[in-house]
Amino acid sequence: MSILVVGSVAFDSLETPSGKRERVLGGAATHFSLAASFFTPTRVVGVVGEDFSAGNEKVLTDKGVDTRGIERAEGKSFHWTGSYLNDLNTADTLATDLNVFANFAPKIPVEYEDSEFLFLANIDPVLQLDVRKKMPKVKMVGGDTMNYWIGAHREKLLPVLAELDVLLINDAEARQLSGESNVARAAEKVLELGPKTVIIKFGEYGSAAFFSERSFGDGVKHKPFRVHTLLLEEVMDPTGAGDSFAGGFFGYLASQGTLTPEIFRTAMFYGSVMGSFAVERFGTERLENTTKADIEERFQQLRDLSHL
Ligand code: AMP
Repeated sequence: MSILVVGSVAFDSLETPSGKRERVLGGAATHFSLAASFFTPTRVVGVVGEDFSAGNEKVLTDKGVDTRGIERAEGKSFHWTGSYLNDLNTADTLATDLNVFANFAPKIPVEYEDSEFLFLANIDPVLQLDVRKKMPKVKMVGGDTMNYWIGAHREKLLPVLAELDVLLINDAEARQLSGESNVARAAEKVLELGPKTVIIKFGEYGSAAFFSERSFGDGVKHKPFRVHTLLLEEVMDPTGAGDSFAGGFFGYLASQGTLTPEIFRTAMFYGSVMGSFAVERFGTERLENTTKADIEERFQQLRDLSHL
């Protein structure tokens, strides 16, 4: 099985209570693919500018990520500036310099067309839908979005939601999308918009999956499932936690080749584990230095933490 992810490949400038960093490697597709690469061959479609170095690309290729779908355009790469000084759980966007991302028109290399899993990271829903349509044979589609698209471009987002097997959003986005303040009711309303399953993320407090009768093809509406995060002593930079969760979750699912409620729940545990690495250092540093043994050790810790 292999995963195709489409999304931002970026430089991030960040300030958190642990310090400041300028232009570290980031982007939703970057964090996602690094996390997913531990489980399943992962291919990226994105765009970068002339400032994206061979060293930046090597961070991905060292983990076996296929970067042939990263287009190089004239100009600068997408650059996001964010601050977590107010609240470590919420990124305040200080600047979004779209640069080459402004004219991004995803091109899927022929070598990627046999990908069985597709992840539509947070980009313009029109592009998400376009990529979805270009990959009619995929077995499973996951997707993410953000407040901007929910608020200002809802009509463009709705057709994407109808295509998704799993939507991953945070609790504030679920409330915004549904108009419901109660998260459980919000999840039910989001399911009515089309995704078969929705995972709602609560930052450092974990995440919960809400299922519909369509989640597993058995006509049964399974009960919600909640997973914790590890209780970390060091959180330097929350950027990419959500994308790393998605990468671990989707990567594990793809590695199994079949979908059962138990595999889904296990995938959420791996998602939580990968998110825990992402936040321990700035940018991609910690995921670059993670091993499969580290992942299994944390998986066990998370089991111990959650098990009665
Ligand atoms: P998260 O996992 O939600 O923390 O995602 C963080 C990543 O999203 C950062 O590395 C940013 O480069 C990227 N990002 C921030 N804003 C946008 C945007 N408007 N579109 C696409 N990617 C973004």
